[in-house]
Order: sequence, then structure tokens, then C-alpha cells
Amino acid sequence: MNSALSEEFIYKMLFLILFIPGTLIRGLYVHRARSHVEKRPLKERLRLLLETEGYLGTLLLLGQGAVVLAGLVIYLFLLPSFAWLQLWLPHEIRWLGFIIGIPGLILLAWAHHTLDKYWSITIEFREEHKLVTSGPYRWIRHPIYTAHLIYFMSWMLVTANILFLVNYLLTAAIIVRRMPREERALIERFGQEYISYMRRTGRLIPRIRIWRRE
Ligand code: SAH
Repeated sequence: MNSALSEEFIYKMLFLILFIPGTLIRGLYVHRARSHVEKRPLKERLRLLLETEGYLGTLLLLGQGAVVLAGLVIYLFLLPSFAWLQLWLPHEIRWLGFIIGIPGLILLAWAHHTLDKYWSITIEFREEHKLVTSGPYRWIRHPIYTAHLIYFMSWMLVTANILFLVNYLLTAAIIVRRMPREERALIERFGQEYISYMRRTGRLIPRIRIWRRE
């Protein structure tokens, strides 16, 4: 048991190597995006969340935040008492998890950098909102969601902790629920421009063209 716990130390370090830059990237761009909108009090933000995401969506988002927080505290600091939350995963898979986290981080930074001030937690539009079709948006419509699916997969495999598995499932549910709603809103806002953008792109992975269009 002791050796298992000390072995875990290396995975905690790998997790932190992924966690710290990811949190910094997200923090930086969330801050940049927020600096373009008026500051809203927490109560107002919660009301907006309920209005745009509904009860289930809000519950999923809050639940996901709580699970990540619990996962962080338990995995990093309280593992001896919560060893039963650990799943058995081969070392190769845990290292593979670390490796896939790196392209996940790169995509996260690239997509946030490209979308810049138009990012928001809820589906909303800035006054002078433009349709972004450059960077990773050239091929996929939701690169930030793709990045999260890769990045959180990586957290789950590196930590081998059930809470990060739950985080993955909640995130996947949020994204699956969110994409069609977001696309409906984008069609409403940009009309034909978004419809033709949809035709040339994939949702989470690039659209594979089997034949070349002339
Ligand atoms: N789904 C995207 C963006 C997530 S942030 C991604 O995964 O990368 C959510 C906000 O981004 C939405 O409120 C929407 O207004 C905005 N948005 C999504 N796609 C956009 C695009 N191509 N151009 C401009 N804004 C976009």
C-alpha cells in the first residue's frame, strides 16, 4: 500500500504539469473575455446561467465544478483516506494519458486565443460579435470543447481517480447538450453565414471529405 502511494507521487506531479498550465490558460482567457463585458454580480450570473442553460444545465455545470474541486483536494492531499476512489490502470495507460494532455493543452490555448473576447460560459453574444472561422475554427466548430474532452481524458487517465471519471462524464454530458443549442443560437445570429460554415466544418473533429468538391 505504501509503495502504491509513493508511486502515486509521480502521477501527482504529472497531473500538476498538466493542471497548472491549463488553469493558467483558462484563467488568462476567461479574464480577457470578461474584461469585454460589464462586471455582473454573482446572483445575476447565476440567473443568466439558469435562464440560458435551464435547471439541468445549471446543475450539470455546478456539479462538474464541485466534482473537480473535490477531485483536486482528495487526489492531491487526502489520498490515504480515499484510496478506494482509485481505479486500477496500467502504467502505460496513465503515461499515455499524460501524453495526450499536451495536444489537448495546445488546442485549448490556440482555440481560446482565436476566439478571444467572444468566449463565454453561457451562450451569449457581444454587441459587435463576429463569426470566427480562423485558427482551429477553420476545421471544427467547437475546438474548446474538443480540447476539454482531450484534456479531461488526460486528467482521468493520469490520476486514475473515480472523481475525474465523473468529471469526464459530466463534461461530456454538458458538451453534448450544449452543442446543438449553441449552434441554434449561432444560426439565429449569423443566419446563412453560419449554415455554410457548418457545411465546411465538423463539430468536434474535422469533417473528412471523401471526395474533393470542384
Ligand atoms: N463552442 C465553442 C465556443 C465556446 S464559448 C468552442 O468549443 O470553441 C461559447 C460562446 O462562443 C458562445 O456564446 C458563442 O457565442 C461563441 N461562439 C461559438 N462559436 C463561435 C464562432 N465560430 N464565432 C464567434 N463566436 C462563437
